Amino acid sequence: MATIYVDNAATTPVSREVLEAMTPYFSEVYGNPSSIFYSVGEQARQALDAARERTARALNAEPGEIYFTSCGTEADNWAVKGTARRMAAQGKKHLITSSIEHHAILHSMAALEREGFEVTYLPVDAEGFVRPEDVDAAIRPDTALVSIMMANNEIGTIEPIAEIAEVCRRRGVLFHTDAVQAVGAIPVDVKALGVDMLSLSAHKFNGPKGVGVLYIRRGVNPVNFMDGGAQEKRRRAGTENLAGIVGLSTALEIAVNGLAEKSKRLSELRDIVLDHVAAMPKVKINGPLDRSKRLPNNVNASFEAAEGESLLLMLDMKGICASSGSACASGSLDPSHVLLAIGLPHEIAHCSLRISFGVQNTVEEARAVCAALDEVVPKVRERSPLWNE
Ligand SMILES: *Cc1c(COP(=O)(O)O)cnc(C)c1O
Repeated sequence: MATIYVDNAATTPVSREVLEAMTPYFSEVYGNPSSIFYSVGEQARQALDAARERTARALNAEPGEIYFTSCGTEADNWAVKGTARRMAAQGKKHLITSSIEHHAILHSMAALEREGFEVTYLPVDAEGFVRPEDVDAAIRPDTALVSIMMANNEIGTIEPIAEIAEVCRRRGVLFHTDAVQAVGAIPVDVKALGVDMLSLSAHKFNGPKGVGVLYIRRGVNPVNFMDGGAQEKRRRAGTENLAGIVGLSTALEIAVNGLAEKSKRLSELRDIVLDHVAAMPKVKINGPLDRSKRLPNNVNASFEAAEGESLLLMLDMKGICASSGSACASGSLDPSHVLLAIGLPHEIAHCSLRISFGVQNTVEEARAVCAALDEVVPKVRERSPLWNE
């Protein structure tokens, strides 16, 4: 039985070109980019500089504004905690975020609350949209930072980031966006968006795991997150993950150059499943109904009385890898905070499934997912005490 991997919002496979570009940096080019007094190190330094330039170009940033990190989570932690700690010195100890952020943001905010910061968690509407006017209304004289994600990892909502950034600029408040799900899926141009900081992670767009970027606009100065050597202009210490960084920049270039085509292909797959699921009985589609405001690869739906974990297990028996709406990875049975934030009752949130496509998926696979759902959903419901036809 062939595996059908449709959990690309969790991670993606490294593409062949990316792997090939990375390979020399594990062996032949083994130097430390900081050891520039001999050619082995100089070669590594040049590869690092080239990767930074390519990354900057793909985002319409300057090379000096690109900081490589160990993952998207680190980039988010640095932006949020580093800015909060910098602004606290000016008496600004208030932060604004949304209630549907990734835990990298939410748990960073919670850590700051324990240190005495105050955080406003903005609500979202039933499709997961943050309203720019809510951001405006929440800003106070002591607001240090606003952080709102560019696209949601569970329900695919694409937030009005340029409008929110405009509000923040007008009010003189720094703005960060977690663009980990957006980069490689929709256009991301830091200048057009007008953001001060932006996070991304390579493994979400067919790059390697364990490498990310924090874009920091020139003039913005979060407190260093890692202290040590002089790497990353003394702002993020630690010997660079050169193979990972080369992989990230290669994957980013491929994703950005082929974005229109990729997005068209992915949305075809998404729409096959969305259309199919929408026609099934007792189903609610989660996230935006306007598909232009939804990530091209995201499907999320609740199947009344069919518990998410049971659906996943039965799909797994058919070789299909998907994701449910609950935070089972953390060992908790709480339903997803995102699904609760869009107003789903607990019992519906528990019956949710996320299917997220990637470049390696095919139309046949999308159809196979539909057929599997037709089979699996009624089976799970039959066994459910909550199901009465
Ligand atoms: C995956 C993800 C992250 C975390 O990135 P890692 O590189 O896995 O640490 C942060 N935010 C969002 C929206 C994500 O989807």
